[in-house]
Amino acid sequence: MSDQQPSLSTLSVWAGEEKSLWQGATQVPVVHSVAFGYQDVDNWLDVALGRAPGHIYSRNTNPTVQAFEEKVRQLEGAEAATSFATGMAAISNTLFTLLSPGDRVVSVKDTYGGTSKIFLEFLPRFQIEVDLCDTTDHAAIEVAIAQGCRLLYLESPTNPTLKVMDIARLAQAAHQVGAIVVADNTFATPINQNPLALGVDLVLHSATKFLGGHADALGGVVCGARQWVEQIYHFREINGATLEPMAAYLLLRGMKTLHLRIRQQNESALQIARFLAEQPQVSQVFYPGLETHTHHDVARRQMRGFGGVLSFMLTGGFDAVRAFLPQLRYAHRAANLGAVETIAGPPATTSHVECTPEEREAMGIPEGLIRYSVGIEETADLMADLRQALAGLDIR
Ligand SMILES: *Cc1c(COP(=O)(O)O)cnc(C)c1O
Repeated sequence: MSDQQPSLSTLSVWAGEEKSLWQGATQVPVVHSVAFGYQDVDNWLDVALGRAPGHIYSRNTNPTVQAFEEKVRQLEGAEAATSFATGMAAISNTLFTLLSPGDRVVSVKDTYGGTSKIFLEFLPRFQIEVDLCDTTDHAAIEVAIAQGCRLLYLESPTNPTLKVMDIARLAQAAHQVGAIVVADNTFATPINQNPLALGVDLVLHSATKFLGGHADALGGVVCGARQWVEQIYHFREINGATLEPMAAYLLLRGMKTLHLRIRQQNESALQIARFLAEQPQVSQVFYPGLETHTHHDVARRQMRGFGGVLSFMLTGGFDAVRAFLPQLRYAHRAANLGAVETIAGPPATTSHVECTPEEREAMGIPEGLIRYSVGIEETADLMADLRQALAGLDIR
C-alpha cells in the first residue's frame, strides 16, 4: 500500500467507508436499528463503558452515522468529529456545550440567520454576553477579543453577502486571551478551505448544503480536537439532536462527488460573478473571487477556491428582484443552497427568514439582494439564462 497522503478528491470518495462495509457490500449499509444486541453481558458492559468498540443505542452512535462523521473528519483533517440532525443543531449544541453563565462571546453582525438568533435571543437569557462586531473590520474584532472572551465564533465567507474574515489572524488574537475559536465552514466546504489548518479549534458545517449537495437530507457536523468534540457529543447524546441513519447515508453518497461539484461550482461562480459585474442592470456583485472584493487578498491566502455562492444587487431594488426571479429558467426559487441545481432568492425568504427587516438592516443585509447558489449546470447555459432575465428589466 502507498503511504502517500491521499488528496481531498480521493478522500471524498473513500474516507470513512472501508471499515463500515458489510459482507462484501461495496456501499455503506443503512443500519435502521434503534438498538444493538449482546449475548454476553460483560461484552455489553465493555461497549457501554467505551472499553470496546460497538454501539448500544442509535441516539448515541450508529454505524452509518459514524461513517459519515469519519468522512468529514478526514476531509477537515481533524482528530475527531460528531454529527447532528441539522446544521443549527451542530451550532447550538457547540455553543451550549462550551458556554456558561457569565461568559462572553465575540462574533460578527451577519452570521447565518439562525446563528444570529442564538446570539441575540437565546444566549442572553443564560447571562452570556454577546459582542457582535462589524464583519469586515478586523481591527474592531481584535479590540473586542482583547477585552476578554471565552469563545470567538467565525463564519467565512458569510451568508449572503460573502464577506471574508482573516481566520488565521483572528484565531491568533483569540488564543492570546485563551478563547476557543469556532468557524462555520458551510460556504467554503473542506475542498476550498480547512479552518483547523488556519488555527481554529472547531470547524462546523450545515451538511444540508454543499456536503450533501442534493437538497434531500438535513444534517450537521462538528470537527476538531477530541477533547472538545467529546464534550459536544455528550451534550448531543443527551439532548437527542441525532442525525438519522438514512440522512447519513444520503450525505455520504452526496459527498462522493463533493470535489467534482465544488470544482465546477468554483469555476462557474467566478465566471458568472465577472459577467454580472459588467451588466448595467446590476449595481453590485459580492464574490470573494472578484479582485474588487474588500478581502480578495485574504480569500486568496486562505481559500483554494472561492465557492459556489455569490450575491448581487439590481439597480431597480426589490421591485426589480420581484420581476427578475420568476424569469429564471434554471433556478429553484428556494431557501437552501449548495445543491446540484442552481438556487436563487432574496435574504428575506432564505438565509435571514427568521429576522425582521430592521434586524436585517442592522446586520447590513440589503432587502434588494439576490443570493445565487450556482449548481453544476453548464456555465454558458446559466449565463444565457441570467442574460435573458436581466434583459426584461428597465435600466435605471
Ligand atoms: C444553512 C446554514 C446553516 C444551518 O443549517 P441547517 O442544516 O439548515 O440547520 C448554518 N450556517 C450556514 C452558513 C448555513 O448556510
